[in-house]
Amino acid sequence: MHRLFISDLHLDPSREDLTAAFTGFLERRGRQAEDLYILGDLFSYWTGDRDASGYHLSVARTLRDLPVRKFFIPGNRDFLLGRRFCARCGMTLLQDNTVLEDNGRRILLCHGDGLCTLDVAYQKFRRFRSRPLNLMLYSLLPRFIRLRMASRVREDAREEKSTKTPEMMDVCQADLLTLMEELDTRICIHGHTHRPGHHLLPGNMIRLVLGDWRRDGFEFLLQEDRRLSLIHADPAGNERLLFALPEDFPAGASGPLAGTEDC
Ligand code: MN
Repeated sequence: MHRLFISDLHLDPSREDLTAAFTGFLERRGRQAEDLYILGDLFSYWTGDRDASGYHLSVARTLRDLPVRKFFIPGNRDFLLGRRFCARCGMTLLQDNTVLEDNGRRILLCHGDGLCTLDVAYQKFRRFRSRPLNLMLYSLLPRFIRLRMASRVREDAREEKSTKTPEMMDVCQADLLTLMEELDTRICIHGHTHRPGHHLLPGNMIRLVLGDWRRDGFEFLLQEDRRLSLIHADPAGNERLLFALPEDFPAGASGPLAGTEDC
C-alpha cells in the first residue's frame, strides 16, 4: 500500500507559490501513490460548492487528472466543501474522525479542529455551524453575504490568534485518548494545528501531525506498506525525513519512540 496524507494547503488564487507547490507535489509524489488523503483546509476558505471559481475548477481538474484514489475530510476553513465539488475532483468525501482499516490496525483520520476542545467558544461555534438547519439557511443567503461572512470569519481567526493561549490552539490529548479508546485505534493522523510532529501517548498510542503549506515548504505523511514517514519538502522539492514510525507499531513502541516531540 502506498498512501499520502496532506492537510492545510490553504490554496488561494493569490498564492501562486502554494498552488505550484501542490502541483509539483502531485507530479513528484502523487503519481506513485495509490491513495491520496487530504485531511482538510485544502482551500483558504470555501463558501459553498456552487461558488467554485475558475481557480477552484482548475485545482479540481489537476486532482481529477491524477490517476490515484482520492479522499477528502473537510477542515475548519473548507467545512462547506461538499459532494458536488469532491465529485469534480474525483475525490470521495469522508467524515471527520474516519477510521481507516489498514492491515489489521485502525488509523484515526481527522482534520484536528474538533480535537482542540480547550477552545470552548470555537467548539460551540463548530457545533452551531454543523447543524443541518443552519447549513441549509446559510446556503440560501446571497453569494455576496456568504463571501462577506467568510472574510469576517478569517479576520476573527486572525484576531483570535492573539487572544488564545497556545494550549487552546492545540489538541487536548486527554480528550483525544478517550476518542481513540472509543474507536479502538492506536494511531491518529491530523493537521490543523500547524505543529508538525509526533506525540507518543500513554497506552502505546501515537498521534502524527501534518504541517501547513508555507513559503519555506510543507510536511506530508507517506505510507509504504505499514511504514509511516513524516517528511518535510522544501519549495524546490528536496525532501527530508523527520520521523518514521516502525512498521510493527504499536508492538515495538517501547524503544526509540519514547518521548513527545514537535519537529
Ligand atoms: Mn484548520
